[in-house]
Amino acid sequence: MTTIGHFVSGKRVDGKGERMSQVFNPATGEQIATVQLASKAEVNAIVKVAWEAQSAWGATPPAKRAQVMFRFRDLLNQHIDELAKMLSAEHGKTIPDAKGEIARGIEVVEFVCGIPQLLKGEYSEQVASGVDTFAIRQPVGVVAGTTPFNFPAMVPLWMYPVSIACGNTFVLKPSERDPSVPLRIAELFHEAGLPAGVFNVVNGDKEAVDALLDHPLVDAVSFVGSTAIGQYIYSRGTANGKRVQALCGAKNHMVIMPDADMDQAVDALMGAGYGSAGERCMAISVAVPVGAETADRLIAKLTPKVQSLNVAPYTDPNSDMGPVISREALDRIKGYIAEGEAAGAKLVVDGRNLKLQGYEGGYFLGGCLFDNVTTDMSIYKNEIFGPVVSVVRAKGYAEAVDMINSHEYGNGTAIFTRDGDTARDFFSRVKIGMVGVNVPIPVPVAYHSFGGWKRSLFGDHHIHGMEGVRFNTRLKTMTTRWPSGIREGAVFNFHSGSDTKA
Ligand code: NAD
Repeated sequence: MTTIGHFVSGKRVDGKGERMSQVFNPATGEQIATVQLASKAEVNAIVKVAWEAQSAWGATPPAKRAQVMFRFRDLLNQHIDELAKMLSAEHGKTIPDAKGEIARGIEVVEFVCGIPQLLKGEYSEQVASGVDTFAIRQPVGVVAGTTPFNFPAMVPLWMYPVSIACGNTFVLKPSERDPSVPLRIAELFHEAGLPAGVFNVVNGDKEAVDALLDHPLVDAVSFVGSTAIGQYIYSRGTANGKRVQALCGAKNHMVIMPDADMDQAVDALMGAGYGSAGERCMAISVAVPVGAETADRLIAKLTPKVQSLNVAPYTDPNSDMGPVISREALDRIKGYIAEGEAAGAKLVVDGRNLKLQGYEGGYFLGGCLFDNVTTDMSIYKNEIFGPVVSVVRAKGYAEAVDMINSHEYGNGTAIFTRDGDTARDFFSRVKIGMVGVNVPIPVPVAYHSFGGWKRSLFGDHHIHGMEGVRFNTRLKTMTTRWPSGIREGAVFNFHSGSDTKA
């Protein structure tokens, strides 16, 4: 059985400690690897490696950093089949879905191929007589990233290409459930010409994350994962004086207006609710049809589609969705379904009895659909993170908007309508970070920024795009005056640029 270690100073290294975690194939329930969990001392040594590499990398011209990114992009494209297979074996998602997430990650690398342009500063001539002002962005130093299991390629790629292109060095702590892809991508990054020590991967659990949060040489921390852990990361990291962005859990609503194209809405909901077995932070987990007649039409069209989902392992090319990540996740999701039934919601499609011959040990669950869910139920309030969609019927549009705005999470939302006026009002009024109009999963492209509101994000910066560049750089502003023969004499008062003597 493979033992998975770390990636430090440009090569794979074995861990030194005894602590390990098991990696499973979720389709079979069999253990396929063991991952080493780094100790605090190992993390400290890795941070030192990153810190020592930073000054040379930070001084490397951005155009040269971009050349590494161009080669990295090509290598990712060349290896996409290999990476997707590796990813699906540990995560369980279908191969097309795995390729899709890698492709979205590659888009971030493409974005930072333009880093010289992105880092261009600002210049104001003659802010006072003979005085000019420049503003530039410099790297923050060493950045650490902690990432979730559900996108083992894409979410790390949201972080470190931007950070490294900006001149930082990076220590990634990926999810211990599917650690192989981040390590393989680290090898490709170095094959592309990245100097040793600039990008390092440490596998571990809370001990490793805490060591990163407490290390005085770590300047900034990016986190993506659940809200409870993200809030902890934000508190501990900022208490230690670090810049922190923590992107967290979600409960995403899709509003279906009476005038919506119902076939389009239902297809969108199938993909957004059940794709990747609902294990996406942008999954639609709540459908809000407006009006009883809209709700009845939605349920009538949705039910047979949920019943006929092809739930199968990634090795089946016709699979619509695979298993969930772990036995604990399966038990947690089934627990929520039982709570929903007990609370009086109507379980229209029950996927709990799904059996797949030859995969009896796998963590499979069929698609589940609840109707008549109310906002006081746990299946509405909490992130289930599984293939379960709740239909909450709203009497009117205003009730739907209030419902969304009252929810503690604010990652994504969508409205399906043909009416531009309603769509415009919705976009303006919802307290949500990413909004789709007839687009169910409005994940911004790499040159825009991804992030939620409310308890879906702690910190001030969204991720990738220009927000990513800002998070990974510090602003420095210089004011210059050169001897020119113009003499003002000493100035004792604090005056504005326009309030000059000249
Ligand atoms: P998780 O919070 O359990 O783990 C995320 C990371 O934190 C992992 O690397 C894990 O090792 C580490 N971690 C776990 N417990 C820790 C602790 N006590 N102290 C320090 N570090 C700890 O999340 P997960 O189950 O891997 O991923 C699913 C969650 O991620 C969902 O809530 C989902 O919504 C969220 N997510 C959010 C986004 C977003 O952009 N908002 C994107 C993807 C996933």
